[in-house]
Amino acid sequence: MTRIGVLALQGDFREHLQALIRLGAAALPVRTPQDLEHLDGLVIPGGESSVIDRLSRNYGLAEPIRTLISSGLPVYGSCAGMIMLADQIENPAISATGQAQRSFGGIDMTVRRNAFGRQVDSFESVLEFAGHSFEAVFIRAPEAVQVGPAVQVLSTVPGQNRAVHDRIVAVRQENLLATSFHPEVTGSNAIHEFFIHMTQGDA
Ligand code: GLN
Repeated sequence: MTRIGVLALQGDFREHLQALIRLGAAALPVRTPQDLEHLDGLVIPGGESSVIDRLSRNYGLAEPIRTLISSGLPVYGSCAGMIMLADQIENPAISATGQAQRSFGGIDMTVRRNAFGRQVDSFESVLEFAGHSFEAVFIRAPEAVQVGPAVQVLSTVPGQNRAVHDRIVAVRQENLLATSFHPEVTGSNAIHEFFIHMTQGDA
């Protein structure tokens, strides 16, 4: 059985665990470095990326996760998780001690946090993803504002006017998958299914 860990420090990890179980995977909450052993894949959920950053360092998880990312483990980041997989954060949160939030990195992209504006902190949009069309929910969502040549753009949403390019909301770079939106809250299985195929080496 495919064993997929879900980083369970903060955010909506329960919904990801449920989505993976619905699809027949063994879904395991990750809170300690030992929980990272023998996984076929890892999900980093939505939540607040600066908190996930701080807690993952406090719990000794940040370095092991970076090592797994560079060793080729399939990792999927949704929303805050997408921010955690970005090599650069355009507008990092700054702590009281003046430290900018950090990411795990791995995807050659720059993300802008909360990119879709204050009035529309949450919205839904019908997207294309790997041949499926589905309703995506965005909650204070990031956008990939720059992607490197190794990054495959999987989904975009239209810009607000003709002057604005399509906005990148789903990407893949080799073993890493990231979406601005939250597939786990709509009951749509397309993204988790795609990710499970990635962990099995057939996507
Ligand atoms: N705005 C959040 C952040 O910067 C992400 C929001 C989400 O995961 N729904 O981490």
